[in-house]
Amino acid sequence: MKIDLHSHTTCSDGSLTPAELVLRASTFEVDVLAITDHDSIQALDLAYEAKAKYKLKLQIINGVEISTSWEGQEIHIVGLNVDRNCSLFKSRLDQQLQTRVNRAERYAHKLENCGIKGALAGANHYARGKSISRVHFAKFLVNEGHVSSFDQAFKKYLAKNAKAYVSPGWIDIPEAIKWIKEAGGQAVLAHPTRYDLTNKWVRKLVAYFAQEGGEAIEVSLPRQSPNEKQQLAQYAIDANLKASAGSDFHHIGRFGELGRDINLPDIVTPIWHDWSITKDH
Ligand code: AMP
Ligand code: MN
Ligand code: MN
Ligand code: MN
Repeated sequence: MKIDLHSHTTCSDGSLTPAELVLRASTFEVDVLAITDHDSIQALDLAYEAKAKYKLKLQIINGVEISTSWEGQEIHIVGLNVDRNCSLFKSRLDQQLQTRVNRAERYAHKLENCGIKGALAGANHYARGKSISRVHFAKFLVNEGHVSSFDQAFKKYLAKNAKAYVSPGWIDIPEAIKWIKEAGGQAVLAHPTRYDLTNKWVRKLVAYFAQEGGEAIEVSLPRQSPNEKQQLAQYAIDANLKASAGSDFHHIGRFGELGRDINLPDIVTPIWHDWSITKDH
């Protein structure tokens, strides 16, 4: 069974619409797909509509990827099996979306101080009213010729310690776990090795996440060495956490495909071990 528990759509910084995403997942014979947009669950209704329209077998897991702050780092917490009709959860995510809007205004201001005009309108053009992200600023910066690549946009302006970086104002990790649990879901620490942290700090983060009620960490990610996967598996076991697996798919291209190259080592307990993966909800 092909299970992919991390993916994005145009409802955040992904390039495929929810319908295009589920169609592509089906084409690549994914059996179970979690849609985990940044601070948004707007894609889910559209994904279920497409599933019904095209009579897809694909099992959709209601997900989200919440941005948090921890020790000055931006840490992502994935929520799986959240209730997409929970009004408290939706209003909490609206609060995060407002934080994104405020942050975008501050990015634009800093970019203006760097001599770059029109960044807010530019980023809004790409975000199209959805969860606005640094990716939308990066697209603007590349397309207006301020930088030569996406990577440069982050390096020069958007990443931590770059010229236009602003402190984000995210909620903390316990708050994100609480939101996810109160919406009936499980909290998963996203891509623990993709932050700018030493191994010692990754272990510290995993232990803290477990202590605060987290359920699992992502162990299998695309473009990782066998060694990295083994290490993450050991972190999960040591912290008594389950393991998750996801492509973090954003767009078609060289950065990994839906459901591809993700599988868990036998030594971990998959987060889905007690799920009945047979019906949508
Ligand atoms: P945000 O949600 O606004 O904090 O933006 C974070 C998103 O930007 C991540 O989810 C990635 O998709 C993307 N991202 C982060 N760092 C980079 C980078 N160095 N180059 C390209 N994309 C990045
Ligand atoms: Mn992203
Ligand atoms: Mn992430
Ligand atoms: Mn992601």
